Amino acid sequence: MESRIQGLHHITAIAGDAQRNYNFYSSVLGLRLVKKTVNFDDPGTYHFYYGNETGTPGTILTFFPWAHVKPGYTGTGMATEIGYAVPAGSLKFWADRFNEYKVKQSEPLERFGELLLPFQDPDGLKLNLIVPAKEDSRAPWTTNAVTATEATRGFHSVVLTLKDIKPTAEILTDIFGYSLLKQEGNRYRFITTAVENAGIVDLVESPDEKPGLVAGGTNHHVAFRVKNDEVLMQFREKIAAKGLHITPKIDRNYFFSLYFREPGGVLFELATDNPGFAVDEAVSELGKDLKLPAQYEPQRKAIEKVLPVLIEN
Ligand code: ZN
Repeated sequence: MESRIQGLHHITAIAGDAQRNYNFYSSVLGLRLVKKTVNFDDPGTYHFYYGNETGTPGTILTFFPWAHVKPGYTGTGMATEIGYAVPAGSLKFWADRFNEYKVKQSEPLERFGELLLPFQDPDGLKLNLIVPAKEDSRAPWTTNAVTATEATRGFHSVVLTLKDIKPTAEILTDIFGYSLLKQEGNRYRFITTAVENAGIVDLVESPDEKPGLVAGGTNHHVAFRVKNDEVLMQFREKIAAKGLHITPKIDRNYFFSLYFREPGGVLFELATDNPGFAVDEAVSELGKDLKLPAQYEPQRKAIEKVLPVLIEN
């Protein structure tokens, strides 16, 4: 049984308008909405999950859209950039597409020998499309406009910005099984060999930067992937033994979770592969209907009344 962390599971960010968020990720970026549910801690708010066909861990970006959220800003103690892997030769397609849809983007640049195209979603969330040094073999979700030649394969990496990288690096290396691959200036690339893809975390050390504000257009937490509940609980012990506060196991319907704040200030989650997104609807139907956890099902009518109407593409 693989008991190491299996790279990224999902990343969760905060959005403003739900429809605008849905249009951007499903249409412009060509991801699949694999689950339309509510925030289990705030059922008057949607929780959208975007990913590949089945919502494989390592492809899932999730949002809480709050219509009147105030904008946040990036800074230390948070995940500041999300990296998606795309095929070699596709960046021109994406730059043209972003131009067409008036997406904020900047010139492609190189990091650790890999080309990347920085862009922002409509709420200002910072993302990069990255051509990985080694081709990403994951099967993409495709649409009429975004075909397999260009489509994102899932996460390449996440960037955490920190005042001091040391305590966070220790969590990655001593508990999660990552190791330092390379350093470029104040940017340190950590990688795990436990998975083929979505196994990179870049730590950026920025001692003079002020702390970020988690609100609209910023990342709320980063979830790392474990095989199952048994491994999840082994990690709970290891993290508690470090003297860090960690939640009990929480049932998120599609996975089981633990949350803890790593010493650099970023909210980390550990999430299981089981049971996955097909637990309450067929793979062909993923994302079609509003799914509620059992505890909210009796309130479905009231919840549906509060949630904004979403027009499908
Ligand atoms: Zn999460």
